[in-house]
Amino acid sequence: MKKTLLYEGKAKKIYETDQPHVVLVEYKNSLTAFNALKKGEFEGKGQINRDVTSLIFRELTKSGIPTHWIQDVGLTEMLVHQVSIIPIEVVVRNILAGSTAKKFGINEGKVLHKPLVEFYYKNDNLQDPFMSDDQALMMGIVIEKDIAEMKDLALKINEQLKMIFEKIGIRLVDFKIEFGKKLNGQIVLADEITPDCCRLWDVKTNEKLDKDRFRRDLGYVKESYEEVLQRLKGSVQ
Ligand code: UDP
Repeated sequence: MKKTLLYEGKAKKIYETDQPHVVLVEYKNSLTAFNALKKGEFEGKGQINRDVTSLIFRELTKSGIPTHWIQDVGLTEMLVHQVSIIPIEVVVRNILAGSTAKKFGINEGKVLHKPLVEFYYKNDNLQDPFMSDDQALMMGIVIEKDIAEMKDLALKINEQLKMIFEKIGIRLVDFKIEFGKKLNGQIVLADEITPDCCRLWDVKTNEKLDKDRFRRDLGYVKESYEEVLQRLKGSVQ
């Protein structure tokens, strides 16, 4: 089923399959931060992140959010619709942390009255710079209609994700998603939703259960990723 390697990213590999317009995503055990300046890995990460993405994408589908997910394969892979990834990293924030907190000199943890949606240009060589809507249009990456659709989907995804995590005692601080265009032009949620690209804080203890444990050398990285998966498994079918 797995054929030529089409692309290798920091945490995933994409293979061609024998089905037209369907590709296979393999989740790797590697872990990177700060534009891959910091590298690590742990045994079982690929499996955890494949399972977390799959559970969440299937849950989002139930709420009418289109995703590229088709089916899981083995322990670390999934079949997905082939899409052309829109090179915009869409970040949604409910609580201020990370780069935006730093940029405005605000302490991490400020609760936002309204979710904040931000665009970053997906380009490792440029270190994914912040991008305004007009800059996205100027770059010819998207048209106005796409921007409106991406923001609308991002906010809907945020509402669903907040509920999914609230049920398992986790506060969804922020997350990054990517959208792709299917061959028919439909914009769908693509890439992944995992502790690699979300900030997840335990409601009771405020402990971080995400990649910040690796970025900030807090230890218990694997245990935290496993905790997120186990809680999800106990709540989402
Ligand atoms: N994020 C990501 N990939 C990136 C940049 C950010 O997945 O290349 C996620 C990050 O894990 C966090 C959210 O997007 O959940 C917001 O990240 P932020 O802009 O605060 O950047 P950071 O603090 O990670 O530099």
